[in-house]
Amino acid sequence: MIPLSVPNLKGNELKYVTEAVEAEWVSTGGSFINKFENDIANYLKVEQAVATQSGTAGLHLALNLAEVERGDEVIVPTLTFIATVNPVKYIGAEPIFMDCDETLNMDIDKLEKFCETECYLSDNGLVNKKTNKVIRAVVIVHVFGNMANMEKLMEVATKYNLKVVEDATEALGTYYTSGKYVNKFSGTIGDFGIYSFNGNKIITTGGGGMLVAKDKSLAEKARYLSTQAKDDSLYYIHNEVGYNYRMTNVQAAIGVAQLEKLEEFIHIKKTNYELYKKSIDEIQGLSLLNFNKGTRANYWFYSLLIENDNYGIDMDSLLLNLNENSVQTRPIWGLIHKQSPYLSNQNFEIEKATKYIDNVLNLPCSSNLTREEVLRVTDILKNLKS
Ligand SMILES: *Cc1c(COP(=O)(O)O)cnc(C)c1O
Repeated sequence: MIPLSVPNLKGNELKYVTEAVEAEWVSTGGSFINKFENDIANYLKVEQAVATQSGTAGLHLALNLAEVERGDEVIVPTLTFIATVNPVKYIGAEPIFMDCDETLNMDIDKLEKFCETECYLSDNGLVNKKTNKVIRAVVIVHVFGNMANMEKLMEVATKYNLKVVEDATEALGTYYTSGKYVNKFSGTIGDFGIYSFNGNKIITTGGGGMLVAKDKSLAEKARYLSTQAKDDSLYYIHNEVGYNYRMTNVQAAIGVAQLEKLEEFIHIKKTNYELYKKSIDEIQGLSLLNFNKGTRANYWFYSLLIENDNYGIDMDSLLLNLNENSVQTRPIWGLIHKQSPYLSNQNFEIEKATKYIDNVLNLPCSSNLTREEVLRVTDILKNLKS
């Protein structure tokens, strides 16, 4: 079976984990946590990074620090993994769902139209005419490692007084190569950026995440909240309700080793993407979605677009066929505004996301995928064409 996306742990992972265990620092303190935070901060060219138990925990902290409160609203994409949205509910706020554009990222023109036509600005912030509630923030996702349109998003967010939380969980390593944000990494442009080191992400710690913040004091506050809001660690004084959200030293040990490999992984993923693309572009009815111009993407996941009428096989049949041929693929996600917990939430002009959900499959993309395996997949795609 060629798996969709599996970890690649052939570097210093075992060595560093052994060091952590031998030092008997396995919990939420220890040198690897500090090192991992520093290494990530240096890589991203930011002052501070805060290690968390998961990307989801990082998103929850970010929304807290963006001052989203119970009863507020937050704009989110419908085409994403559900962990982008659940933290809005943890706070007691409500999501409003937006459509995607042809890059699968949030359609910022529609976002702007929503703000313009469905909301008004008050002293207290942007108010949703339909609910009379304040919309405090927008969570933007860099889907599959492809940079969202941050130039336009930051303009709209500034105009409408929205905090920007970047869900960069899939996009560690993606940065602008031109334009206003040249050399800026995804996650470092908005107010907060969150990365994930879950098992299928570009680098993994088993489970884990990282938060960065434009305002240095808010990064420090995130670390404070993630460690039970301890104001005095000797006498156990807590002035706020905190969380047990800090990463462990063992996870961080794996992370330090994985980060050493990140650029190599990106190189392999880019090479395999280009190899896939060359073959797939020759098959009528199939194409591989592009990563945005003016950016260096991390090429995390590859999206195969199937034009049913031209290819002759629909997405579900193709998925079954590939599985029978020992190739693991999957559809993107279920749209979040169609999931049970979110059926009563507002959504705005969702059209493209519905189309992409029915016509896109993710192809195997692990960093240990070989050239031969890529060609095996593209041969199957060629032979299935009817
Ligand atoms: C993986 C992922 C998350 C959550 O990260 P975890 O570390 O698994 O909690 C959030 N949003 C998106 C888009 C993701 O792909």
